[in-house]
Amino acid sequence: MDHQPLAGTHYPRSVGEFQAWFRTDGDCLDYLEWLRWPNGFACPSCNHCGGWRLGDGRFMCAGCGGRTSVTAGTIFDRTRTPLTVWLTACWLFATGKDGISALSLKRTLEIGSYQTVWAMLHRLRSVLVRPGRERLAGTVEVDETYIGGLESGLPGGRAHGKKVLVGIAVEIREPRGFGRCRMLPLADASTASLHGFVRDHVEPGAKVITDGWQAYRGLEKLGYGHERRRQWAAQAGGEESGDLLPAVHRVASLAKRWLLGTHQGSVDDAHLTSYLDEFVFRFNRRRSGSRGMLFYRVLELAVAHAPVRYEQLIATRRPRAMPPAPPQGRGHPHSMERPPANRPWRAATLGYSG
Ligand SMILES: [Zn+2]
Repeated sequence: MDHQPLAGTHYPRSVGEFQAWFRTDGDCLDYLEWLRWPNGFACPSCNHCGGWRLGDGRFMCAGCGGRTSVTAGTIFDRTRTPLTVWLTACWLFATGKDGISALSLKRTLEIGSYQTVWAMLHRLRSVLVRPGRERLAGTVEVDETYIGGLESGLPGGRAHGKKVLVGIAVEIREPRGFGRCRMLPLADASTASLHGFVRDHVEPGAKVITDGWQAYRGLEKLGYGHERRRQWAAQAGGEESGDLLPAVHRVASLAKRWLLGTHQGSVDDAHLTSYLDEFVFRFNRRRSGSRGMLFYRVLELAVAHAPVRYEQLIATRRPRAMPPAPPQGRGHPHSMERPPANRPWRAATLGYSG
């Protein structure tokens, strides 16, 4: 069952509406409560539905007596960033056509700590892959490409850090156009890695189109139709090699341009996966009529996602060193509270379809 949220009721249609709705941390908390428990409190420990709201804003379960809060067990758990700041960051992250870099968000929100902003954006990225999401289907191009490091040929450029091999799969629409895509780093271009990538991200029965690389051989045994396009065949037909797999090459170049544009290429290998998750999330929703809908979808995933600790975010590598923050900007961000709102999401129930 997939609910259909309404613009202007369940999510803001514009930045003006966003500002009118989320004036206090309490407004934001109420919105997250409504998103997490649209049918009323349900205990995360024992799944019992029903309980009491305590004086401190937490809930007590009528089943097991456990106490919990709206944000406990979500990505907002135990962060010291006020919810007005969180939701503003999420709005800018979700509604920006190409997203937002940590540095731009830091400037926009006037937050002193780059690390706070960096971690907030990474927590948002970490929720974007919905558990149990469907695999690609129909006709799917699959290829690998290298991403990261400095572009070769730049004046004075020197590769700092090696490029990462990334698997790409893109659905082909008839008569033209692309459907959804998937992009993930691969260990190598071996049969084990490439077959694993296809199996994880393409539904059996789909027709998989690859180039002539031998490691793709054997996909038929995994239940896929397999069309191998060979270089010499394309050249004999007078085509450029880039025309062999136009969809994956197009998506790869969009992803590289996005990394160089929005993030100015400042993406280290250790965090490439989460940036690719963000790119894929945006690409697959590129036809979404409303940017506010993306804000809703990100928060919906965020309240259903387990906490992500700072140590987990930096487990592989620390964020880039940045110039020190100005002294007056140190500490945790202040709430962006203004006089309270009407909470329109409470005025109407979600319509269910399907
Ligand atoms: Zn309980």
